[in-house]
Amino acid sequence: MKISGNSFCPCGSQKKYKNCCRKFHFGEEPQNALELMKSRYSAFASTVSEYIMKTTHRENPDFTHDTQSWKKSIHDFFDHSEFRKLEILDFIDGEDLAYVTFKANIFQGAIDVSFIEKSKFLKVNNLWLYHSGEFIE
Ligand SMILES: [Zn+2]
Repeated sequence: MKISGNSFCPCGSQKKYKNCCRKFHFGEEPQNALELMKSRYSAFASTVSEYIMKTTHRENPDFTHDTQSWKKSIHDFFDHSEFRKLEILDFIDGEDLAYVTFKANIFQGAIDVSFIEKSKFLKVNNLWLYHSGEFIE
């Protein structure tokens, strides 16, 4: 779903999207892994697949140079999912390795497909990238 600049940012900051994650979606670089995590969630919620692809580490299993099919699979997920809320549970910062544990509240129709994930982020050439994640029961 597309969101307007005046809507609340999907990341849960209570700020308007135009004053929050949108700047990252349009080229500004997150200063830490937590900002990256939140802006990636917002990108999922507001259908900015380019940003998801750009901030994924090449070692991630989803990474492919076939951006057309990757984009399609991201959109398939977007189109059937409603991103209701992001809750940050833990943030372990580091020089070039960081972890964020979060709960993503996501519904597909009436079905709750929410999950808790511990995500690993790596800093490569001064840019934070999403490396991988493990689900936490
Ligand atoms: Zn935001």
